[in-house]
Amino acid sequence: MSLDLSNRTALVSGASRGIGAAIAAALATAGAKVAINYRDRAREAASVAAAITAAGGSATIVQADVSNGDAVAAMVRRVGPIDILVNNAGIALIRGIDDLTEADFDQTIAVNLKSAFLCTQAVLPHMRAQEWGRIVNISSGAARGAGGVGLHYNASKAGMEGLTRGYAARLVKQGITVNAVAPSLIETDMVPSGVASAPTRIPLGRFGTSEEVAQVVMMLIGNGYMTGQTVALSGGMSFN
Ligand code: NAD
Repeated sequence: MSLDLSNRTALVSGASRGIGAAIAAALATAGAKVAINYRDRAREAASVAAAITAAGGSATIVQADVSNGDAVAAMVRRVGPIDILVNNAGIALIRGIDDLTEADFDQTIAVNLKSAFLCTQAVLPHMRAQEWGRIVNISSGAARGAGGVGLHYNASKAGMEGLTRGYAARLVKQGITVNAVAPSLIETDMVPSGVASAPTRIPLGRFGTSEEVAQVVMMLIGNGYMTGQTVALSGGMSFN
């Protein structure tokens, strides 16, 4: 079953590298026009877009700090009507109970959770008007398990899953699905190299890839009946 997104525009936050870049590439392969959001790394974002264009796809880059409401509104105005939103941007500040500061906590909630609210609010008017939309939030196994980052990260990702269910329930009659994907552990720049060299916690014996996460995102975008769910991919790790 191949997914045809040739009449759709997608926005992926934090897509200059890692999981976001792989999601942007998968969306473009399915025919979507993809807007690659980045905060600072313009050069990397441009090279993700260039690779997509070289492969015959359509991509633009768009700067915004997605934890800032004005910046998100300006970004969405620049991109134009958005049919598919992937809230992928995130930070993982590694902290213990005793060295976690109020500033770390606030920044993590703003970047990992508030950004999903801001981007969703900004794209909803168009999705509701056309009665079609797809929103996928990139959560983490840390929403349910301890994880290796810290309790602020746990809280931000658990909040994102609550946001997912809250929007899904309220938008179900308007043709808009809202789901989350909870990966762990995926080999990207976010995973410290000490951890990346020893995947002993993972029953499968290896890390996941960004492309494997993108594949689950595409499955959710292609499915109009599934909403309010979190799909975990964890190489067999269990969090319940
Ligand atoms: P990454 O650090 O490569 O990607 C995160 C991206 O978000 C970066 O491009 C970064 O610049 C961007 N970003 C951060 N703050 C931003 C802001 N304020 N505005 C715009 N962009 C911003 O790491 P990744 O592993 O590709 O992470 C992608 C998502 O997947 C994150 O939400 C992360 O929490 C989640 N995740 C990753 C793993 C893993 O094992 N790598 C596991 C679970 C969840």
